[in-house]
Amino acid sequence: MSELARNRRTGSVHVAAELPFSPELDDGGWECPGCGIEMIPVAASGDRLYKVAPHFRIHGQHAEHCSTLGPGPGGSSSPSASEDAGDAPPGTFPRKLRLAADRQEVVPEREPAAASAAHVGSPKAATAPQPHGSASVAGTLHRIAESYLLAPEHHGEPLEIDGCEGSSYETCFRRLKNTNRPSRLPRLVWFAEIQFRHILREGDVAELTLSPLQWIRNRSVVRPGPHYRIRFDMVPWTPRRRNAMFAELERRRVEQQELHHAEAEERVNIFFFGRQDGEDAMLFHVEDPRLVCFFLLPKV
Ligand SMILES: [Zn+2]
Repeated sequence: MSELARNRRTGSVHVAAELPFSPELDDGGWECPGCGIEMIPVAASGDRLYKVAPHFRIHGQHAEHCSTLGPGPGGSSSPSASEDAGDAPPGTFPRKLRLAADRQEVVPEREPAAASAAHVGSPKAATAPQPHGSASVAGTLHRIAESYLLAPEHHGEPLEIDGCEGSSYETCFRRLKNTNRPSRLPRLVWFAEIQFRHILREGDVAELTLSPLQWIRNRSVVRPGPHYRIRFDMVPWTPRRRNAMFAELERRRVEQQELHHAEAEERVNIFFFGRQDGEDAMLFHVEDPRLVCFFLLPKV
């Protein structure tokens, strides 16, 4: 079971978790980035609810020289690219986040991708068609967050995310802590443990609550009433993206519950690039599923 594969059409490397949200990757087939053997995506189509997380299954065996052999990848939720992200396969250490033109996902369902690239309605839409396969450009937050976790020695490297106030890995990422004085926060990639009891769902809107555990322990500080929440308004999304997101939220909630009951040392953390609500400072809106990912981190 593998998380990384290279798309044969575009030449770019992707994690399986990106696939349900990136239908433009459906064509072309997949191969091992190390040796080129065929890989087959599993539970990645996003068209129904899967029990397992998206992953790649190898069709045959890796070649002897395959660079993905050796120190093996970690668990399904842990960062799993090679340890030396500096020398990692092309694409595992992105410099820029650019969402592929996704207007065909939002407006008329069958609008061709090429035409939709010209749309600039969304602040995060691509401003011009870009060649696929550029090793330094990530199509989702996933690989960027993974690089952040795997390569602390590279945190000074530049990172460009449209709308983000940071300009390097160091300055783009910050852990979100609950507060007793809700305030305006800089627009950054925030991350925090999720709570396993609370995923509200009303129609196509889902709301995830973040864990307040760091406050329960600290008795000298007043625990704030409301926790931070992240709202996904999926109404404009395709059914595929909605299904994939609901499935992912539920899987992660259950995973967090199991970790909690097992008294494990790790917890599920969400990484997200969203927009703080104009009135409720404890609420964030995430408008695109590609701006969210989950990783296990040591318990806070
Ligand atoms: Zn291989």
